[in-house]
Amino acid sequence: MADRVFNFSPGPATLPYEVLEKAGRDVVNFKETGIGLIEISHRSKEFMAVAEEAEKNLRDLMQIPDNYKVLFLQGGASSQFFMVPMNLLGKGKKATYLNTGTWAKKAIKEAQLFGEVEVAYSSEKANFNRVPKQGEYTVADDSEYLYYVSNNTIYGTEFAEVPQTDKMLISDMSSDILSRPVDVSRFGLIFAGAQKNLGPAGVTIVIIRDDLLDRTPANTPTMLSYKTHADKGSMFNTPPCFAVYVVGEVLKWLKKMGGVAAMEKINREKAALLYGAIDSSDYYRGHAEKDSRSLMNVTFNLATPELEAKFIAGAAAIGLNGLKGHRSIGGCRASIYNAFPVEGVVKLVEFMKDFAAKNPVA
Ligand SMILES: *Cc1c(COP(=O)(O)O)cnc(C)c1O
Repeated sequence: MADRVFNFSPGPATLPYEVLEKAGRDVVNFKETGIGLIEISHRSKEFMAVAEEAEKNLRDLMQIPDNYKVLFLQGGASSQFFMVPMNLLGKGKKATYLNTGTWAKKAIKEAQLFGEVEVAYSSEKANFNRVPKQGEYTVADDSEYLYYVSNNTIYGTEFAEVPQTDKMLISDMSSDILSRPVDVSRFGLIFAGAQKNLGPAGVTIVIIRDDLLDRTPANTPTMLSYKTHADKGSMFNTPPCFAVYVVGEVLKWLKKMGGVAAMEKINREKAALLYGAIDSSDYYRGHAEKDSRSLMNVTFNLATPELEAKFIAGAAAIGLNGLKGHRSIGGCRASIYNAFPVEGVVKLVEFMKDFAAKNPVA
């Protein structure tokens, strides 16, 4: 293996090394065709097979029911902030949102362009250090859907459970899709940008219940209607071929690792190591409340910003990269998605102990 550092970047993020190596070869010469992967037609039988296999593996891994479509779209997860209400809301209609951080807020802003938005919960005053428990908010009877961000990448909070409601659920799972099993049948729509837990930037996965495809208002631009892409198997226009291919390879890797339940077990072990290190002394303070802690993004602070800067630089010097927290909360963040190796977490925990011993706080 080439010299690799442990990359704690929040996204784009660490991918399985074997996937990177294979992608490198396939980009140059795809399956001995003499053509590079990113040079072949998206309608060639070779690429069609790639896209079909990726969809099939996603369906297997997430046990996606037959009455759901899987779409490979562009425009990032951020485009789903407006595509969801553009297709599923409308003047005079209401939707309920849980404001648990930056990505939720941005989605709320877009939804307000299309209909009435009820913000049923917000942890903004506490700098988004938690997600609501069941019963801490109510959803209006006339709401079309309840929207929530299952993992708040920036703050390091995550819903431990899918919210209980008889309303249709819509979730932004950009930073925790495939990190643990979810019952897709409880959702109207799930979306995720690939670059956190699934692959490279450039493709966004949308899983949508098929009865929702007929709700889109007639004056919706063709490219922004889910039905356009559903009807054409995400081949209405040129899909992001390379990103779809890499997602497909990551899904194969995930299957080899034992699937989503096996992944969840490893993810819990990794997170427990880090939270254990945080909780073992007062030196590190976790940002998230304990029962809201994310398995994917572990956020913590040291006594001062200066000490944090020293910590981040010292970690980078021994090959632990990307630990700087998001500018909106500062501090440190260790993103430990599916492909992030346990050894990197062990090394970080050792460094945390070592750093605390060598840099006592007066
Ligand atoms: C990163 C992220 C986004 C934004 O994704 P883009 O693909 O950059 O638009 C949205 N939601 C969550 C939860 C994220 O982590």
